[in-house]
Amino acid sequence: MSRTVYVNGEYLPEEEATVSVFDRGFLFADGVYEVTSVLGGKLIDFAGHAARLKRSLGELEMAAPVDDDTLLDIHRELVARNDIEDGLVYLQVTRGAADRDFAFPEGAAPTLVMFTQSKPGLAESPAAANGIKVISIPDIRWGRRDIKTVQLLYPSMGKMMAKKAGADDAWMTEDGHVTEGTSNNAYIVKGGKIITRHLSNDILHGITRAAVLRFAREAQMEVEERAFTVEEAKAADEAFVTSASAFVMPVVEIDGVTLGDGAPGPVARRLREIYLDESRKAAV
Ligand code: PMP
Repeated sequence: MSRTVYVNGEYLPEEEATVSVFDRGFLFADGVYEVTSVLGGKLIDFAGHAARLKRSLGELEMAAPVDDDTLLDIHRELVARNDIEDGLVYLQVTRGAADRDFAFPEGAAPTLVMFTQSKPGLAESPAAANGIKVISIPDIRWGRRDIKTVQLLYPSMGKMMAKKAGADDAWMTEDGHVTEGTSNNAYIVKGGKIITRHLSNDILHGITRAAVLRFAREAQMEVEERAFTVEEAKAADEAFVTSASAFVMPVVEIDGVTLGDGAPGPVARRLREIYLDESRKAAV
């Protein structure tokens, strides 16, 4: 069955959903995006994603295409029209279509595209039960990783490097320290303490990260926000990643080194449980 996709005010069958070949998202990767998960037909942390979208747009001097209430309405409408029980809603905003020129165009209307992916059982993936394997690769992305742009080529290449190495994902490193995963924030646990890189322009300010750290602190778990090395990670008791689509995902191997007994650790398992419980309760 064809999906219904939202394009600039219209709900269309995916075959008819198009944007201009002059769209700056296509020509310059001049756009930003958000991904919001859906569990039980409801949106997880919509407010967080809407707030980060506004920040990304602001950093790039792009106008918001619609207000937050309209954005929520479109999310809900797409979830309903596509009958999404568990899945993801992708939102893409670009600076719009204009004659090709590096300078930002004056008065171009932003392009807003939204689509869904159905993922039945999203929260019950086998990967969460078994944990994932990561490799480390150099982080050669640009210096504004805090803006959620559609420039995803290097993360995509990183996933392929991981795949070729028989792993599931890659952690990127800079100056000997882990920045983040290709599409998630990275954490290690040592002596009960949760360690994750501090916020800066070097990493995306994960919406799941913010929620997980809040829940961890509320549960009296110790959190330290600082950069850590791959060597430190290999010697950690456990590790995990967070993202809107993977929630809290245990990591059981780094560069071929098994962590602990090779099974998901208790801190990652507990945080996943708390995150899913609390997020489902607050879903809209
Ligand atoms: N870092 C990167 C590079 C990402 O692409 C993502 C996922 N969009 C994240 C972190 C996690 O962010 P969030 O929890 O908001 O999905």
